[in-house]
Amino acid sequence: MPGATLMAMSRVGRADFQPIEVGANDRVFVLTGAGISAESGIATFRDAGGLWEKHRVEDVASPEGWRKDPKLVWRFYSLRRAQALTVEPNAAHIALAKLERAIGDRLFLCTQNVDPLHERGGSERVLHMHGELMKSRCSGCARAPFTDDKSYPDALPVCDRCGGAIRPHICWFGEIPFDMEVIGDALRRSTVFVTIGSSGAVYPAAGFVRAARSFGQRTIYVGPEEPENASAFDECRLGTATQVVPSLFSA
Ligand code: NAD
Repeated sequence: MPGATLMAMSRVGRADFQPIEVGANDRVFVLTGAGISAESGIATFRDAGGLWEKHRVEDVASPEGWRKDPKLVWRFYSLRRAQALTVEPNAAHIALAKLERAIGDRLFLCTQNVDPLHERGGSERVLHMHGELMKSRCSGCARAPFTDDKSYPDALPVCDRCGGAIRPHICWFGEIPFDMEVIGDALRRSTVFVTIGSSGAVYPAAGFVRAARSFGQRTIYVGPEEPENASAFDECRLGTATQVVPSLFSA
């Protein structure tokens, strides 16, 4: 019953935060969203008002947008690539890399972000469910996605194997996120579920917390405001990622 869930949920002030004790049998699933990279200087979807140069982000980040104007799509991602080369991981990215060094593969780090800041912060196992800004793939052949940090502001890149159009390796609006089976397995095996900096509005990621609860896991949200799916969390720890994440875990 939603009322009972809300009453059970605590919204804790920063001074009251107790670290999450990660025991030898615990497995931690961390889902990150745009909010974890906000303090590194990458605008969240909401901060940007869902717009880029007066275009709706859906118009440059969708299969329809790609069919209509691939040059515009590549201009959008070229600028994002150029920006990603100038930003640094913050204390929250670095803290999650430290947790990975402490508990190894008992941490499953799943990000909705396409930026490379988890890896640059030292994380070695990161599942990018919405793809990676610094990768491209061929839309015409089965060639594997490849590392590509180039900008394509004018001419469209083509595949040197089949001549097909090269597109960003991004899960666009209306496409199915990557590795959902792997994510489902990790969700089932975890004992603690934490979301950091995600509005709870973009599915399927916004639904992971309800799956975690159905498996009896402890569920915690970290961010400056409650997400849209707040009622599914046992606790919302209100604060920014760099304020909360460095002391979030004790392992
Ligand atoms: P969102 O923009 O919908 O929501 C951002 C969330 O971050 C909000 O709930 C906000 O309260 C929170 N937030 C803002 N500042 C924060 C901070 N300093 N610390 C912690 N939290 C903070 O983002 P979303 O839920 O991730 O979903 C939007 C979609 O757009 C996703 O697919 C996302 O990956 C993508 N996106 C990615 C990037 C990136 O790769 N860095 C940037 C923008 C959007």
